[in-house]
Amino acid sequence: MNLKKNEIYETTVTGMTTEGSGVGRVNDTAVFISNSAIGDVLKTRIIKTSKNYAIGRTEEIIIPSPDRVNPDCKYFVQCGGCTYRHISYDAELQIKYQRVEDAVTRIGGFRNLKINPIVSCENRCFYRNKAQLPFGKDNHSNTIMGFYAYHSHRIIDSDCCLLQPPVFSEISRIVRDWAVRNNVSVYDEILHRGLLRHLYIRIAEVTGEIMVCLVINGKSVPYKNELIDRLKYVNGFKSLQLNVNTQKTNVILGKECIKLYGSNYITDILCGLKFNISPLSFYQVNRTQAEKLYSIAENYAKLSNDDILLDLYCGTGTIGLSMAKKVKKLIGVEIIPQAIENAKKNAALNGIDNAEFICADAAKATVKLEKQGIKPDVVILDPPRKGCDKSLIETVVKMTPDKVVYVSCDSATMARDISIFNELGYKPTEITPVDMFPATPHVETVVLMSRPMTEHEKYGEYFMNRSVSDIMSEYSEQHDEWH
Ligand code: SAH
Repeated sequence: MNLKKNEIYETTVTGMTTEGSGVGRVNDTAVFISNSAIGDVLKTRIIKTSKNYAIGRTEEIIIPSPDRVNPDCKYFVQCGGCTYRHISYDAELQIKYQRVEDAVTRIGGFRNLKINPIVSCENRCFYRNKAQLPFGKDNHSNTIMGFYAYHSHRIIDSDCCLLQPPVFSEISRIVRDWAVRNNVSVYDEILHRGLLRHLYIRIAEVTGEIMVCLVINGKSVPYKNELIDRLKYVNGFKSLQLNVNTQKTNVILGKECIKLYGSNYITDILCGLKFNISPLSFYQVNRTQAEKLYSIAENYAKLSNDDILLDLYCGTGTIGLSMAKKVKKLIGVEIIPQAIENAKKNAALNGIDNAEFICADAAKATVKLEKQGIKPDVVILDPPRKGCDKSLIETVVKMTPDKVVYVSCDSATMARDISIFNELGYKPTEITPVDMFPATPHVETVVLMSRPMTEHEKYGEYFMNRSVSDIMSEYSEQHDEWH
């Protein structure tokens, strides 16, 4: 029986999609219900139907899931920032672990691969060191700023977000107040008119330095001194920048930055190294978890001081640089030129002189390096969500590194890629999921894969693990003439 739009049906939520919607079944049709929890028994109203599934909205919770907790944020449900504030953190971690396990078994085809417990984040709140808040107008033409609703560009007016440090709320109140009092226009996406597009804030957690950046549809803002004077009261305020974005685009940042006050960057410490963070440079948004992620990767890599380490998809070089002092040479590859510039500066800032950074497509650069006879001992891969090209995996295997450490932000493509490595002889031996983004559906994973044994090593291992009498009796079973 087909489900009817607007009808209400009873269903039990038995699973979660990768985006964090609960999944129930009605008459054998899967119904996706956002903000539900595994174990909920719900009355759900069908709001959309399609051939193979339906979308439902909770009308009534008949029996709540034991995982449910009271959301600690009043904007939860409307705001698109968090997916899991209505279930306990343990339940959230369980869902993330399950997601990695499902990917590894169903997509990767691995049956008996042990997955280590997920590395949790100590704090489910305040972990982000970066915020980008859009400006807009409400129905009464009041200036608003806040966060986008789920899958939309509708702004939920708010200056408080539990994912961000409280000082960001203080800054957004100051900026909003400055904009309203001085009648500074805000950007209208449809008309492509108005000045203020986004308030963009970054904090270097260890040093406490803060950068405030106004993304504008123009080159200057009025009353800038008033804004600077007020921001100076904020503890740690180090820099005010303008980012010029005059394009009709959804991309938040433009290419040009103009300094209005202080320094061009803030400096943070990650894995004992200094990193200068400018408005356009990439930096991990959850610094504490990034350190845990990198230390797992380092444990898997087991580096020694005559090793060559190849860090593919290196961004601003953070993973490789955090390990550079332990190896003979580090080679980083990344496609974005600014990131490579940053990586080089980061190396110099930390007195690292054994690092080379190449700006190129990872697959192409690897072919070149392989042709030059470069033989890395360890290859670290940290690709974007779409994973690696098959040709890149083949070239990495050709280079015969002892270990490949795969850092992934998408379990499905990770499972696909490690199964290709597996077919080519690199067996995954350790997998650890890491929760970098609590309250959201994202999960990171680190996988260790090791080089297939050579015939020599296999032979050696065979004799190492057996006593002489074992070998002789095995041999005699196979060769009757010994009897
Ligand atoms: N390892 C870094 C960044 C990982 S994010 C860190 O931990 O901070 C993935 C990176 O891959 C991004 O910086 C992205 O620009 C880069 N990238 C995407 N496609 C690429 C390609 N084809 N070749 C090389 N780098 C690529």
